[in-house]
Amino acid sequence: MAIIQAFDPAAETARYLATLPPEVHARATAYTQGGHWLLLWGTLVAIAVAWLVIRSGVLVRLRDGVERTRPRPWIAALAVLPVALLLEELLSLPWSIYADWFREKSYGLTSQPLGGWLGEWAVGAGLGVVVSGIVLSVIYWLLRRAPKTWWIWSGGVATVTMVLVLVLAPIFLLPLFNSYTPAPAGPVRDAIVEMANANNVPSDKIFIYDGSKQSNRYTANVTGLFGSAQINISDTMLKAGADMSEIRAVVGHEMGHYARGHVLSRLAAMAVLLVIGFWAADRLFPLAAKLLGARDVKGIADPAGLPVLMAVLSVLGLLATPAFNSITRLAEADADNYALQVAGEPDGLARALVQTVEYRAATPGGLEEVLFYSHPSVSWRIRNAMNWKAARIAAPPAPASDG
Ligand SMILES: [Zn+2]
Repeated sequence: MAIIQAFDPAAETARYLATLPPEVHARATAYTQGGHWLLLWGTLVAIAVAWLVIRSGVLVRLRDGVERTRPRPWIAALAVLPVALLLEELLSLPWSIYADWFREKSYGLTSQPLGGWLGEWAVGAGLGVVVSGIVLSVIYWLLRRAPKTWWIWSGGVATVTMVLVLVLAPIFLLPLFNSYTPAPAGPVRDAIVEMANANNVPSDKIFIYDGSKQSNRYTANVTGLFGSAQINISDTMLKAGADMSEIRAVVGHEMGHYARGHVLSRLAAMAVLLVIGFWAADRLFPLAAKLLGARDVKGIADPAGLPVLMAVLSVLGLLATPAFNSITRLAEADADNYALQVAGEPDGLARALVQTVEYRAATPGGLEEVLFYSHPSVSWRIRNAMNWKAARIAAPPAPASDG
């Protein structure tokens, strides 16, 4: 007689988490909680950088020089904004090296040499200066033309820019940093194509990229928007020996982001937060200018006051972090549920999730998760998968007919 053992989702979750030794969990906790503090330090660095640039008086002198020879506000903006952005990038470089390279390296999360990291930083910073320079030129034009309502229009301009960047990223941006190759023929691709076809997701846009160049994180993602949307699997997953059930679960999760339009709902939420952020910046600018000692800045519409505006926006960004995270976290839970539905691999999903613990500690406190976690905790996600499995065991779906 067969002994039917009750399936206990809580015990199964604990068993999965226990596949990692306690020291790995402890290191993950140190890395993750240190990351929360990094948000605060990053904001303080942004304020310090703004203060340094203002103190130097460089932007005010440049503005005055340009206005003397060509008294047109838009020419002053075009001259001052790129210099302000470049100074900001350069002065925060030491912090970026520490936070984004050295710290990752010391936790074993990257094998990239500093030279390679710096090369990519230069490309990213250069692109950032150009794109932000263009967008800010428009925003400063709005500040001059519509001083009372600029924050609404600027929210729109920033949102349109995000849409453009999202659409163009897989075509022009991402190939600058990594090489993307269509998943090669074989069982992995067959499994992915089958799942994609069964769920009306285009199956020709599934790529493997050399993510291990920058990071050892076991990960996959969705990039692009509308026609340019694609699913990317980091080669770290293949190097870690992910089996077919893990790949199906992870790709199912990424397909969930695609199929349920998470990119668009996040964009909409960002647009709302941006409008609120610009409105708050409008109100806070005079106080911030005073605190930062920006005496020669002639108000928020003065491009020489960009460091003040950026400092205000970084503080607001820090305050908005829990809101951003909560929006993302909901979408992530939704994508997990989609993956369980289309891939039916609760154990594959659990095994894949265990691999992500090293950079996202598994069992945060409740408030910590709400404030700082962009994904539900791994313990919650595995439990969710095990609950799904338990429900399946209790009431198995009717077998599909072959006809
Ligand atoms: Zn996701």
